[in-house]
Amino acid sequence: MKTKKHSLLTTALAMCLLGALPVSSFAKLSSKQKSLRLITSMVVSVSTTKEAREAGLKEEDIRKDITTRLEQTGVKTIPEYMYGPPRLQIRIKAYKIPHQEMFVDNIDVLLKQEVTLARNPEEKITAVTWELSWLSNSSPQRFVKHIKSNIKILIDAFIADYLAANPPAKRAADANDIAAVLPAVTGKQTKPTVKPTTAEYKYVASKNSKVFHKPDCRWVKRILVKNLVGYNGREEAIEAGKRPCKLCKP
Ligand SMILES: [Zn+2]
Repeated sequence: MKTKKHSLLTTALAMCLLGALPVSSFAKLSSKQKSLRLITSMVVSVSTTKEAREAGLKEEDIRKDITTRLEQTGVKTIPEYMYGPPRLQIRIKAYKIPHQEMFVDNIDVLLKQEVTLARNPEEKITAVTWELSWLSNSSPQRFVKHIKSNIKILIDAFIADYLAANPPAKRAADANDIAAVLPAVTGKQTKPTVKPTTAEYKYVASKNSKVFHKPDCRWVKRILVKNLVGYNGREEAIEAGKRPCKLCKP
């Protein structure tokens, strides 16, 4: 017991030291962790079985808990999207065992994003680059609590990997790097104040449209993430030549 405690302490200390060395520590990350690098926003979707819903599990509650955690970490979450950004998918498959007072559940947490094939970089596909699953069981009385606490642990693991790949101190610098590189890549950036990949903005627009929106407007779902531009104020959006959307009235 004593040696175990000691080795845990050593591991913790080693991890602290690694955290202090961003450049060399990055090389030590797994490819699963590295795949989370520079992701600044994601869609969160939660699905479960009819039996789980009937037992009181609410997908929307779980989604809200997760988006809150992610936003606290600095990851912007987008309610629904047709196409574009990474998607964090939480699949809760839970079934009641007949003639037994027991639920069996399997929770999958998957991060899907667009990747290119190494053998043919022109080929873009959506792939799972990060995943974690947990198979367990519980009594019907504890079911909802049990699922929520397991999801919390899985999401903690996801956030830990996210932070390992995106150390907070480095993230601000990286965001600036992207803002500096983007005009050259897209060729058509209007203002340097527009930061399409940073986490927080009050209003958004497509770079191909004259209209700006609140981030939760349903028109926003139709904007491809590569075309998204953000503004921190109405004035900023209007100055950039955009007018307010008639639906969300930003
Ligand atoms: Zn709108």
